[in-house]
Amino acid sequence: MLTFEDDVPGRPQPSIEPMLALQSVADAVRGGIPIRPLAQPLDGTPQIAGQPVASPAAAAKRVNVADKRIINGQTDVNQLVPFKYKWAWQKYLDSCANHWMPQEINMNRDIALWKDPRGLSEDERRIIKRNLGFFVTADSLAANNIVLGTYRHITAPECRQYLLRQAFEEAIHTHAYQYIVESLGLDESEIFNAYNEIASIRAKDEFLIPFIQTLTDPEFRTGTMANDQALLKSLIVFSCLMEGLFFYVGFTQILAMGRQNKMTGAAEQYQYILRDESMHCNFGIDLVNQLKMENPHLWTPAFREEIRALFKQAVDLEYRYAEDTMPRGVLGLNAPMFKGYLRFIANRRCQQIGIDPLFANEDNPFPWMSEMIDLKKERNFFETRVIEYQTGGALNWD
Ligand code: FE
Repeated sequence: MLTFEDDVPGRPQPSIEPMLALQSVADAVRGGIPIRPLAQPLDGTPQIAGQPVASPAAAAKRVNVADKRIINGQTDVNQLVPFKYKWAWQKYLDSCANHWMPQEINMNRDIALWKDPRGLSEDERRIIKRNLGFFVTADSLAANNIVLGTYRHITAPECRQYLLRQAFEEAIHTHAYQYIVESLGLDESEIFNAYNEIASIRAKDEFLIPFIQTLTDPEFRTGTMANDQALLKSLIVFSCLMEGLFFYVGFTQILAMGRQNKMTGAAEQYQYILRDESMHCNFGIDLVNQLKMENPHLWTPAFREEIRALFKQAVDLEYRYAEDTMPRGVLGLNAPMFKGYLRFIANRRCQQIGIDPLFANEDNPFPWMSEMIDLKKERNFFETRVIEYQTGGALNWD
């Protein structure tokens, strides 16, 4: 058994120059991007603000805010400050203030309704099972995409800080879906395998997988035109199409159920998830726009056309999912209503990243969904008397 004192064959020997060792750590966490040579002071002991510093290299090592970049940055990613991307830091703070956990939500009414043979129609039960079937693995895909992919390629520490928070929120969402499955006593194998077995769910995941593979490929590096465009495309697909479009039929269905006083515990969980996902989507869009601003050469007409084609494909896939989950009208909803809604959302996402709308004159058939995203406006909707959700353990069920 190895101990800390054992010399491991092939392990690099400790550097005689401490700052070089530190530099290699910074290099490693940046994702292998080489650091440019550091300037040497002209004379004497290096000082910063009148204080001697450890080495000449350290004197030149302080981060200059103007040098920070979203991708291909050369500054030390271990130094969160000085802040450049304050919008990312603010979203991190806002997300932490919205912390919640699934077990804090009372599921007793849902359990009673689900177990009552006359409590829900077969079409309503189908919606719940399809919904959980998609989401129970979708947030794991999102988490893996962040942790194993996106995070490595982003060189702005403020954005990395938000991504760490986002990854934890994806874990909370997977936990929430698992908690609903367990509470209702559903067949876990059926629900967790839906993304392999249900065609309308599988088709959405197959659309996403190539973009996940791009980011998570250990050999993938940014720094070329082709690879930077591939990264940008994956970021757009995730923020605008996965979190910004593929979640919206499911969210609308479960929240419509809650509005009819059915499955109110699940609906409340979805409401918190919707708020988180709305923030993920907005962060992703800000990230895309900042990346575009710093790298305008990536935003070519051909690239924009490719993005428009992906948007159209995603609208079709989500509409097929709407048809599969609602073969008939249910809860005052039907699949054709979602055709307009998905086109409305796609137009909005296009506008948010600077692409012309894809569809003409689409209005929002579900204006109440916009209100749901702002929890404060609807806080008593499900009669659970949430005073105002702020931090973990702050819920009041009295
Ligand atoms: Fe998300």
